[in-house]
Amino acid sequence: MSLEKLKKSVRNIPDFPIEGIQFKDVTTLFKSAENLCEMTDILKNIYFEKGITKVVGIESRGFIMGPILAVELSAGFVPMRKPGKLPAEVFEEKYEKEYGTDAIQIHQDALCADDVVLIHDDLLATGGTMLAAYNLVKRIGVKKVYINFLIELEDLNGHELFPKDIEIETLIKF
Ligand code: AMP
Repeated sequence: MSLEKLKKSVRNIPDFPIEGIQFKDVTTLFKSAENLCEMTDILKNIYFEKGITKVVGIESRGFIMGPILAVELSAGFVPMRKPGKLPAEVFEEKYEKEYGTDAIQIHQDALCADDVVLIHDDLLATGGTMLAAYNLVKRIGVKKVYINFLIELEDLNGHELFPKDIEIETLIKF
């Protein structure tokens, strides 16, 4: 199967959740067992030799491939969640989204200095969400950080928010 076939299975919903947004619906990507296996194989090949110890998934669509990847890489899984969801002490970062503002949190004891972290989310739009996630991980302090998205909306230039030396991998580009 090709990346082009994966791309074709992402459903575009115009004007959702607000007018002007071309919403990329990943439910049509995930409902195919073949797609799930393909994405898992591709991502495992990219990351299996990087020594990843923790996969950090961003709520909520980062909670789908995130744990799958963690199992494949023999790493732990750490959820990064919206405010009020995590029960223990957290660090928080506020950020701007393609539509609206938001904040994310991580447990203060979720990562340690020896961790090699892969932060995963479904989609890169303006990059605000992932930059907040990256800043939270950096605040805790880990050995190395990798970033992965399934989908990138290239016109929004989210890539440019990140330092050039961070390895960012994206499977499907629109
Ligand atoms: P951003 O912070 O602008 O990069 O937005 C990325 C986050 O918002 C991801 O968690 C996506 O799930 C969601 N998101 C933003 N824009 C879209 C879009 N056009 N289609 C689907 N999800 C989106």
